[in-house]
Amino acid sequence: PHYREPTIILFDGSQLPQIGAGTWKHSDEIAPKAIYTSLQLGYRLLDGACDYGNEKVCGEGLRRAIADGVVKREDVWVASKLWQTFHAMEHVRAAVQKSLEDWGVEYFDLYYIHFPISLAYVPFETRYPPGWYYDGESEVRHSRVPIRETWEALEELVDEGLIRHLGVSNFNSALLMDLLKYARVKPAILQIEIHPYNAQLRAVDYAQSQGLAVTAYSSFGPQSFLELKMSKALHAPSLFMQPVVTQIADAHNKTQAEVLLKWAVQRGLAVVPKADDVRLQELNLRVGETSWMLSEEEMERISGLDMHLRFNDPADEFEGCHIF
Ligand code: NAD
Repeated sequence: PHYREPTIILFDGSQLPQIGAGTWKHSDEIAPKAIYTSLQLGYRLLDGACDYGNEKVCGEGLRRAIADGVVKREDVWVASKLWQTFHAMEHVRAAVQKSLEDWGVEYFDLYYIHFPISLAYVPFETRYPPGWYYDGESEVRHSRVPIRETWEALEELVDEGLIRHLGVSNFNSALLMDLLKYARVKPAILQIEIHPYNAQLRAVDYAQSQGLAVTAYSSFGPQSFLELKMSKALHAPSLFMQPVVTQIADAHNKTQAEVLLKWAVQRGLAVVPKADDVRLQELNLRVGETSWMLSEEEMERISGLDMHLRFNDPADEFEGCHIF
Protein backbone atom coordinates (compact mmCIF):
# COMPACT_ATOMS: atom_id res chain seq x y z
CA PRO A 1 0.00 0.00 0.00
CA HIS A 2 0.99 3.57 -0.66
CA TYR A 3 0.21 4.66 2.87
CA ARG A 4 1.37 3.25 6.21
CA GLU A 5 -0.98 3.83 9.07
CA PRO A 6 0.10 4.70 12.61
CA THR A 7 0.27 2.04 15.32
CA ILE A 8 -0.12 1.92 19.09
CA ILE A 9 2.62 0.17 21.05
CA LEU A 10 1.16 -2.45 23.36
CA PHE A 11 2.63 -3.43 26.74
CA ASP A 12 4.51 -6.32 25.16
CA GLY A 13 6.06 -4.08 22.51
CA SER A 14 3.92 -5.23 19.60
CA GLN A 15 2.32 -2.66 17.34
CA LEU A 16 -1.45 -2.47 17.11
CA PRO A 17 -2.70 -0.85 13.87
CA GLN A 18 -4.48 2.27 15.03
CA ILE A 19 -7.14 2.24 12.33
CA GLY A 20 -8.76 -1.12 11.77
CA ALA A 21 -11.72 -2.28 9.70
CA GLY A 22 -14.96 -2.92 11.57
CA THR A 23 -17.05 -5.85 10.31
CA TRP A 24 -20.34 -5.71 12.25
CA LYS A 25 -23.34 -5.93 9.89
CA HIS A 26 -21.29 -6.66 6.78
CA SER A 27 -23.71 -8.74 4.70
CA ASP A 28 -22.74 -12.05 3.08
CA GLU A 29 -22.63 -10.37 -0.32
CA ILE A 30 -20.53 -7.42 0.72
CA ALA A 31 -18.17 -8.89 3.33
CA PRO A 32 -15.61 -10.67 1.08
CA LYS A 33 -15.20 -7.66 -1.17
CA ALA A 34 -15.16 -5.14 1.70
CA ILE A 35 -12.44 -7.08 3.50
CA TYR A 36 -10.44 -7.47 0.30
CA THR A 37 -10.58 -3.78 -0.62
CA SER A 38 -9.74 -2.70 2.91
CA LEU A 39 -6.62 -4.85 2.85
CA GLN A 40 -5.72 -3.45 -0.58
CA LEU A 41 -6.03 0.07 0.79
CA GLY A 42 -3.67 -0.75 3.65
CA TYR A 43 -5.90 -1.72 6.60
CA ARG A 44 -4.00 -4.19 8.76
CA LEU A 45 -6.56 -5.00 11.44
CA LEU A 46 -9.89 -6.76 10.93
CA ASP A 47 -12.28 -6.50 13.86
CA GLY A 48 -14.53 -9.55 13.80
CA ALA A 49 -16.73 -11.46 16.23
CA CYS A 50 -18.74 -14.66 16.41
CA ASP A 51 -21.80 -12.52 17.05
CA TYR A 52 -21.53 -10.72 13.72
CA GLY A 53 -22.45 -13.96 11.98
CA ASN A 54 -20.11 -13.22 9.09
CA GLU A 55 -16.70 -14.57 10.06
CA LYS A 56 -16.79 -17.10 7.22
CA VAL A 57 -17.49 -14.51 4.55
CA CYS A 58 -15.02 -12.05 6.04
CA GLY A 59 -12.48 -14.89 6.10
CA GLU A 60 -13.17 -15.44 2.42
CA GLY A 61 -12.01 -11.89 1.68
CA LEU A 62 -8.90 -12.36 3.81
CA ARG A 63 -8.02 -15.70 2.21
CA ARG A 64 -8.43 -14.25 -1.25
CA ALA A 65 -6.23 -11.28 -0.40
CA ILE A 66 -3.53 -13.59 0.95
CA ALA A 67 -3.76 -15.86 -2.12
CA ASP A 68 -3.45 -12.84 -4.45
CA GLY A 69 -0.40 -11.57 -2.59
CA VAL A 70 -2.17 -8.41 -1.32
CA VAL A 71 -1.07 -9.20 2.24
CA LYS A 72 0.73 -11.86 4.19
CA ARG A 73 -1.08 -13.50 7.08
CA GLU A 74 1.54 -12.28 9.54
CA ASP A 75 1.03 -8.65 8.51
CA VAL A 76 -2.65 -8.60 9.45
CA TRP A 77 -4.21 -8.47 12.89
CA VAL A 78 -7.21 -10.74 12.87
CA ALA A 79 -9.46 -10.13 15.87
CA SER A 80 -12.50 -12.00 17.09
CA LYS A 81 -14.69 -12.04 20.19
CA LEU A 82 -16.11 -14.70 22.48
CA TRP A 83 -19.89 -14.68 22.67
CA GLN A 84 -21.41 -14.85 26.12
CA THR A 85 -23.08 -18.24 25.68
CA PHE A 86 -19.58 -19.76 25.50
CA HIS A 87 -18.10 -18.39 28.74
CA ALA A 88 -17.88 -21.75 30.56
CA MET A 89 -14.44 -23.39 30.75
CA GLU A 90 -15.65 -26.33 28.64
CA HIS A 91 -17.04 -24.15 25.83
CA VAL A 92 -14.35 -21.53 25.33
CA ARG A 93 -12.00 -23.67 23.27
CA ALA A 94 -14.67 -24.88 20.84
CA ALA A 95 -15.90 -21.32 20.35
CA VAL A 96 -12.41 -20.07 19.56
CA GLN A 97 -11.76 -23.00 17.24
CA LYS A 98 -15.01 -22.40 15.37
CA SER A 99 -14.13 -18.74 14.81
CA LEU A 100 -10.58 -19.70 13.73
CA GLU A 101 -11.99 -22.14 11.18
CA ASP A 102 -14.47 -19.59 9.89
CA TRP A 103 -11.72 -17.03 9.37
CA GLY A 104 -9.45 -19.73 7.96
CA VAL A 105 -6.54 -18.79 10.21
CA GLU A 106 -4.38 -20.74 12.66
CA TYR A 107 -4.33 -18.12 15.40
CA PHE A 108 -5.97 -14.86 16.42
CA ASP A 109 -3.78 -11.83 16.97
CA LEU A 110 -6.42 -10.53 19.31
CA TYR A 111 -9.35 -12.19 21.02
CA TYR A 112 -11.83 -10.37 23.23
CA ILE A 113 -14.44 -11.27 25.77
CA HIS A 114 -17.28 -9.52 23.92
CA PHE A 115 -19.39 -8.63 27.00
CA PRO A 116 -18.78 -9.29 30.72
CA ILE A 117 -22.03 -11.20 31.05
CA SER A 118 -22.32 -14.99 30.91
CA LEU A 119 -25.40 -16.49 29.31
CA ALA A 120 -26.75 -20.04 29.19
CA TYR A 121 -25.03 -22.27 26.67
CA VAL A 122 -26.59 -22.65 23.24
CA PRO A 123 -25.04 -25.43 21.11
CA PHE A 124 -23.76 -24.54 17.63
CA GLU A 125 -26.37 -26.88 16.12
CA THR A 126 -29.24 -25.04 17.79
CA ARG A 127 -28.29 -21.64 16.45
CA TYR A 128 -25.09 -19.89 15.38
CA PRO A 129 -24.44 -17.18 16.21
CA PRO A 130 -26.67 -17.57 19.27
CA GLY A 131 -27.42 -13.89 19.95
CA TRP A 132 -28.78 -12.56 23.23
CA TYR A 133 -31.90 -14.65 23.55
CA TYR A 134 -31.94 -18.23 24.78
CA ASP A 135 -35.03 -19.02 22.74
CA GLY A 136 -33.87 -16.90 19.82
CA GLU A 137 -36.65 -14.43 20.52
CA SER A 138 -36.95 -12.76 23.89
CA GLU A 139 -35.73 -14.82 26.87
CA VAL A 140 -32.39 -13.72 28.34
CA ARG A 141 -31.08 -16.70 30.32
CA HIS A 142 -27.97 -16.23 32.45
CA SER A 143 -25.38 -18.80 33.43
CA ARG A 144 -23.39 -18.85 36.68
CA VAL A 145 -19.97 -18.52 35.07
CA PRO A 146 -17.83 -15.71 36.51
CA ILE A 147 -15.34 -13.84 34.30
CA ARG A 148 -12.38 -15.43 36.06
CA GLU A 149 -13.27 -18.88 34.74
CA THR A 150 -13.53 -17.56 31.20
CA TRP A 151 -10.27 -15.67 31.50
CA GLU A 152 -8.37 -18.72 32.73
CA ALA A 153 -9.73 -20.77 29.83
CA LEU A 154 -8.54 -18.08 27.42
CA GLU A 155 -5.11 -17.94 29.07
CA GLU A 156 -4.66 -21.61 28.24
CA LEU A 157 -5.30 -20.88 24.58
CA VAL A 158 -2.69 -18.12 24.72
CA ASP A 159 -0.23 -20.65 26.16
CA GLU A 160 -1.02 -22.95 23.25
CA GLY A 161 -0.50 -20.24 20.66
CA LEU A 162 -4.08 -20.04 19.37
CA ILE A 163 -4.37 -16.46 20.63
CA ARG A 164 -1.62 -13.82 20.68
CA HIS A 165 -3.32 -11.07 22.72
CA LEU A 166 -6.35 -11.01 24.95
CA GLY A 167 -8.75 -8.11 25.14
CA VAL A 168 -11.90 -7.17 26.98
CA SER A 169 -14.85 -5.38 25.51
CA ASN A 170 -17.68 -3.51 27.20
CA PHE A 171 -15.94 -3.76 30.59
CA ASN A 172 -16.21 -0.81 32.96
CA SER A 173 -13.25 0.27 35.09
CA ALA A 174 -14.31 -1.70 38.18
CA LEU A 175 -14.53 -4.94 36.20
CA LEU A 176 -11.16 -4.25 34.64
CA MET A 177 -9.68 -3.51 38.07
CA ASP A 178 -10.92 -6.87 39.32
CA LEU A 179 -9.59 -8.74 36.29
CA LEU A 180 -6.15 -7.20 36.75
CA LYS A 181 -5.98 -8.76 40.24
CA TYR A 182 -5.80 -12.30 38.91
CA ALA A 183 -4.92 -12.13 35.21
CA ARG A 184 -1.79 -14.15 34.54
CA VAL A 185 -2.00 -13.00 30.92
CA LYS A 186 -2.71 -9.29 31.07
CA PRO A 187 -5.44 -7.84 28.87
CA ALA A 188 -3.78 -5.81 26.11
CA ILE A 189 -6.78 -3.88 24.88
CA LEU A 190 -10.09 -2.53 26.08
CA GLN A 191 -12.70 -2.04 23.36
CA ILE A 192 -15.65 0.16 24.31
CA GLU A 193 -18.23 2.45 22.74
CA ILE A 194 -16.65 5.89 22.36
CA HIS A 195 -17.89 8.90 20.41
CA PRO A 196 -18.48 12.52 21.41
CA TYR A 197 -21.86 11.69 23.01
CA ASN A 198 -20.10 9.01 25.11
CA ALA A 199 -16.57 10.35 25.48
CA GLN A 200 -15.52 7.94 28.29
CA LEU A 201 -12.77 10.24 29.53
CA ARG A 202 -12.27 8.48 32.88
CA ALA A 203 -12.53 4.90 31.60
CA VAL A 204 -9.91 5.66 28.95
CA ASP A 205 -7.60 7.28 31.49
CA TYR A 206 -7.89 4.32 33.82
CA ALA A 207 -7.28 1.67 31.16
CA GLN A 208 -4.34 3.56 29.69
CA SER A 209 -2.86 4.08 33.16
CA GLN A 210 -2.88 0.29 33.56
CA GLY A 211 -1.00 -0.21 30.30
CA LEU A 212 -3.93 -1.18 28.11
CA ALA A 213 -4.58 0.29 24.68
CA VAL A 214 -8.15 1.43 24.12
CA THR A 215 -10.16 0.86 20.95
CA ALA A 216 -13.19 3.03 20.31
CA TYR A 217 -16.14 1.38 18.61
CA SER A 218 -19.15 3.03 16.98
CA SER A 219 -17.10 6.20 16.46
CA PHE A 220 -19.97 7.80 14.55
CA GLY A 221 -22.36 7.47 17.50
CA PRO A 222 -25.99 6.88 16.53
CA GLN A 223 -25.16 6.24 12.85
CA SER A 224 -24.54 2.50 13.22
CA PHE A 225 -27.69 1.98 15.28
CA LEU A 226 -30.00 3.72 12.84
CA GLU A 227 -29.73 0.62 10.65
CA LEU A 228 -31.22 -1.36 13.56
CA LYS A 229 -33.99 1.21 13.90
CA MET A 230 -33.02 1.58 17.55
CA SER A 231 -35.28 4.25 19.05
CA LYS A 232 -32.45 5.72 21.17
CA ALA A 233 -30.51 6.33 17.97
CA LEU A 234 -33.49 7.61 16.00
CA HIS A 235 -34.07 10.19 18.73
CA ALA A 236 -30.44 11.27 19.08
CA PRO A 237 -29.17 14.16 16.97
CA SER A 238 -26.87 12.85 14.24
CA LEU A 239 -23.18 13.53 14.81
CA PHE A 240 -22.92 14.13 11.07
CA MET A 241 -25.14 17.20 11.50
CA GLN A 242 -23.96 18.28 14.93
CA PRO A 243 -23.06 22.01 14.71
CA VAL A 244 -19.75 21.85 16.64
CA VAL A 245 -18.54 18.89 14.59
CA THR A 246 -19.71 20.49 11.36
CA GLN A 247 -18.04 23.82 12.13
CA ILE A 248 -14.73 22.09 12.85
CA ALA A 249 -15.06 19.91 9.75
CA ASP A 250 -15.66 23.00 7.61
CA ALA A 251 -12.67 24.76 9.13
CA HIS A 252 -10.41 21.88 8.07
CA ASN A 253 -12.20 21.21 4.80
CA LYS A 254 -12.92 17.66 5.96
CA THR A 255 -16.07 15.62 6.50
CA GLN A 256 -17.73 15.22 9.90
CA ALA A 257 -16.80 11.52 9.85
CA GLU A 258 -13.12 12.35 9.48
CA VAL A 259 -13.30 14.81 12.38
CA LEU A 260 -14.98 12.21 14.60
CA LEU A 261 -12.25 9.68 13.87
CA LYS A 262 -9.51 12.27 14.22
CA TRP A 263 -10.81 13.23 17.66
CA ALA A 264 -10.43 9.59 18.74
CA VAL A 265 -7.07 9.02 17.08
CA GLN A 266 -5.59 12.18 18.63
CA ARG A 267 -6.64 10.85 22.04
CA GLY A 268 -4.38 7.89 21.35
CA LEU A 269 -7.33 5.56 20.76
CA ALA A 270 -7.52 2.90 18.10
CA VAL A 271 -10.64 3.00 15.93
CA VAL A 272 -12.40 0.37 13.81
CA PRO A 273 -14.83 2.24 11.53
CA LYS A 274 -17.00 0.03 9.38
CA ALA A 275 -17.69 0.96 5.78
CA ASP A 276 -18.82 -1.02 2.74
CA ASP A 277 -17.83 1.64 0.29
CA VAL A 278 -14.20 1.72 -0.81
CA ARG A 279 -14.23 5.52 -0.98
CA LEU A 280 -15.30 5.79 2.66
CA GLN A 281 -12.88 3.04 3.67
CA GLU A 282 -10.04 5.06 2.21
CA LEU A 283 -11.19 8.33 3.78
CA ASN A 284 -11.38 6.64 7.18
CA LEU A 285 -7.96 5.00 6.91
CA ARG A 286 -6.32 8.27 5.93
CA VAL A 287 -7.43 9.94 9.14
CA GLY A 288 -4.11 8.64 10.45
CA GLU A 289 -2.26 11.16 8.28
CA THR A 290 -0.65 13.93 10.24
CA SER A 291 -1.03 16.60 7.54
CA TRP A 292 -3.99 17.96 9.51
CA MET A 293 -4.66 17.92 13.24
CA LEU A 294 -7.33 19.24 15.58
CA SER A 295 -6.26 21.99 17.96
CA GLU A 296 -6.52 21.42 21.68
CA GLU A 297 -9.45 23.80 21.78
CA GLU A 298 -11.24 21.85 19.03
CA MET A 299 -10.59 18.58 20.85
CA GLU A 300 -12.12 20.04 24.01
CA ARG A 301 -15.14 21.43 22.22
CA ILE A 302 -15.85 17.98 20.80
CA SER A 303 -15.33 16.27 24.17
CA GLY A 304 -17.75 18.84 25.57
CA LEU A 305 -20.57 17.14 23.66
CA ASP A 306 -20.41 14.21 26.10
CA MET A 307 -23.77 13.23 27.58
CA HIS A 308 -22.95 9.65 28.62
CA LEU A 309 -25.22 8.43 25.87
CA ARG A 310 -24.50 4.80 25.16
CA PHE A 311 -26.31 3.07 22.32
CA ASN A 312 -24.93 -0.45 22.80
CA ASP A 313 -26.05 -1.00 26.38
CA PRO A 314 -26.87 -4.57 27.45
CA ALA A 315 -29.00 -3.21 30.27
CA ASP A 316 -31.53 -2.35 27.58
CA GLU A 317 -31.87 -6.06 26.76
CA PHE A 318 -32.29 -6.99 30.39
CA GLU A 319 -35.18 -4.76 31.34
CA GLY A 320 -37.44 -6.78 33.58
CA CYS A 321 -35.08 -9.77 33.58
CA HIS A 322 -34.08 -11.27 36.95
CA ILE A 323 -30.78 -13.09 37.05
CA PHE A 324 -31.87 -16.08 39.16
P1 NAD B 1 -19.43 2.95 12.94
O1 NAD B 1 -19.42 4.05 13.93
O2 NAD B 1 -18.17 2.50 12.34
O3 NAD B 1 -20.48 3.39 11.84
C1 NAD B 1 -20.79 2.63 10.73
C2 NAD B 1 -21.77 3.43 9.86
O4 NAD B 1 -21.15 4.63 9.42
C3 NAD B 1 -22.15 2.67 8.61
O5 NAD B 1 -23.49 3.01 8.32
C4 NAD B 1 -21.20 3.25 7.56
O6 NAD B 1 -21.72 3.17 6.27
C5 NAD B 1 -21.08 4.68 8.00
N1 NAD B 1 -19.78 5.27 7.61
C6 NAD B 1 -18.55 4.70 7.69
N2 NAD B 1 -17.60 5.55 7.29
C7 NAD B 1 -18.22 6.71 6.94
C8 NAD B 1 -17.77 7.96 6.45
N3 NAD B 1 -16.47 8.20 6.25
N4 NAD B 1 -18.70 8.91 6.20
C9 NAD B 1 -20.01 8.67 6.41
N5 NAD B 1 -20.50 7.50 6.87
C10 NAD B 1 -19.61 6.53 7.15
O7 NAD B 1 -20.21 1.77 13.64
P2 NAD B 1 -20.03 0.30 14.13
O8 NAD B 1 -20.01 -0.62 12.98
O9 NAD B 1 -21.04 0.10 15.19
O10 NAD B 1 -18.62 0.29 14.88
C11 NAD B 1 -17.42 -0.01 14.21
C12 NAD B 1 -16.96 -1.43 14.51
O11 NAD B 1 -16.73 -1.58 15.91
C13 NAD B 1 -17.95 -2.54 14.20
O12 NAD B 1 -18.07 -2.82 12.83
C14 NAD B 1 -17.39 -3.65 15.01
O13 NAD B 1 -16.27 -4.24 14.36
C15 NAD B 1 -16.98 -2.91 16.28
N6 NAD B 1 -18.03 -2.94 17.32
C16 NAD B 1 -17.77 -3.61 18.48
C17 NAD B 1 -18.73 -3.70 19.47
C18 NAD B 1 -18.43 -4.42 20.75
O14 NAD B 1 -19.35 -4.70 21.51
N7 NAD B 1 -17.19 -4.73 21.02
C19 NAD B 1 -19.98 -3.08 19.30
C20 NAD B 1 -20.21 -2.37 18.13
C21 NAD B 1 -19.23 -2.30 17.16
